[in-house]
Amino acid sequence: MLKYPKELLTLIAHLKKLPGVGKKTAERYAFHLLGWEGKDLHEFAEGIGTLKEKVQPCVDCGCLMDDIRCLFCDRGERDKSVLCIIASPRDAYSLEETGNFRGLYHVLGSLLSPLDGKTPENLNLPHLEKRIETLGVKEIILALDSTLEGDATSFYLKEQFEKLGIEVTRLAFGLPLGSSLDFVDEGTLSQALSGRQKF
Ligand SMILES: [Zn+2]
Repeated sequence: MLKYPKELLTLIAHLKKLPGVGKKTAERYAFHLLGWEGKDLHEFAEGIGTLKEKVQPCVDCGCLMDDIRCLFCDRGERDKSVLCIIASPRDAYSLEETGNFRGLYHVLGSLLSPLDGKTPENLNLPHLEKRIETLGVKEIILALDSTLEGDATSFYLKEQFEKLGIEVTRLAFGLPLGSSLDFVDEGTLSQALSGRQKF
């Protein structure tokens, strides 16, 4: 069997790591890229190469920063008394699209999953509790996936926050179990947010 040149094989191997991309698709993408102008390829490669250095998480909320500013914490008009707990920085964008949330976010970065060794220590709760105190948070919205890990984390956090005397609400999902925020359409998410219930 004829083999691809080494550079192409490496490219295909990287492309295959992307979600939903199998061998055939990776090969198709690699050949497509071969057809690009050199200038565009360099721009693309440089963008990927510097992605981690240029896109940093905010030290306060964990959402993505734009140069030196957090797009959420550093905007004056946000309501600091409502804090929405999310699993990944991407979830903030899903919730922003609903146009229905004016509070601040807090990215957990991890969900409880004892089988994978993810325990409460991975949630960095001391930092979260300090933030709650500094901001004067009155309501916490738990916006975690409706999965085993998401639910376990929500229940654990609920106990912790109730000890602090804060109102804890949860998105009214109305969705099948196992659903992730990523796959919820804007309208449903907006409803889930407005219809949030005491947890
Ligand atoms: Zn921030």
